[in-house]
Amino acid sequence: MKTCLRLFSVGLVFITTIVVAQVSNVEGLTPLDGVPTKRQSNIESSDNQREDKFWEDVKSAGNKKAFEAYIKQYPNGRFIDLAKAYIERMKSNPAPITNALPSNSLMAAVLWSYEGDNGPQHWGDTFPICEAGEKQSPINIVDPFERSYDVLNVDYKVGPLKLLNNGHTIQVNVEAGSTLTINHDIFHLLQFHFHRPSEEQINGKNSAMILHFVHKSQDGKLAILGVLLNEGKDNGAIKTLWANLPLRQGEEYRPEKVNFNPTALIPKELGFYNYEGSLSTPPCTEGVQFYILKKPMEISKDQVAKFPYKLNARPIQSLNGRQIGASSN
Ligand SMILES: [Zn+2]
Repeated sequence: MKTCLRLFSVGLVFITTIVVAQVSNVEGLTPLDGVPTKRQSNIESSDNQREDKFWEDVKSAGNKKAFEAYIKQYPNGRFIDLAKAYIERMKSNPAPITNALPSNSLMAAVLWSYEGDNGPQHWGDTFPICEAGEKQSPINIVDPFERSYDVLNVDYKVGPLKLLNNGHTIQVNVEAGSTLTINHDIFHLLQFHFHRPSEEQINGKNSAMILHFVHKSQDGKLAILGVLLNEGKDNGAIKTLWANLPLRQGEEYRPEKVNFNPTALIPKELGFYNYEGSLSTPPCTEGVQFYILKKPMEISKDQVAKFPYKLNARPIQSLNGRQIGASSN
């Protein structure tokens, strides 16, 4: 089975480097997610439904003509990168590809993992930046620090709860409207997700878990706010999340009438360490600003045990001369 998967992965290396690099730029995001816009009306959502339907038809046809039709009809469509990648793939293998490919959101999931043949030591085989990059995440946060004067402002809004088990973590998708402001730059919260144990270390020590809040600015810059979770008391907000865990991998679960405010997972004091890093999952894209809050939140031992992934943290990466910043508080 493993050999089979491996062969399958190798066959997909070509297409996935394109697809994953272009489509899934944000750590833990499914390729279908994008930057939320403020304008989200019913008209937009019915347009999206039409596009989804068209895309499903194109995908089930699985031939070059169908993908070209999609590109023509939706030149700025949400699946444009996938459509182009599929066409590229067909240049070397013109057979219809529908049965050969997993669904979009699961595509990345089969190509890398945290252990074994597709573990972090091998990510670079398929995703070159993971190995060649010099500003990779996570890091061990240890002094000397450079004083940072950045000012953070977290403004998260309550919204309907949407959870996704993407095969690597539990991710909570967030509606447009929640922001992190760094000085005067506004970053929109897209999603947050968990790592066990924490990816970032403080003085060589891991916390039980870490939360990564993933944000994107209008011009495409990424900022991740990290909240360490130390073992302690039951966490009420996490209780709500765990009570609504999706049973199946790859499908977003929207429990009826459950609202959630991510602010419940942010400590009051926003003192931080900051550094420039990367997505800590393939394709390991660099240029991501990290702000790891000094103040941890608590999570109970039982709650840690209920998280469905025993290990989903990338090992510590070399600092390579990067300066770590720290706020005064
Ligand atoms: Zn993360």
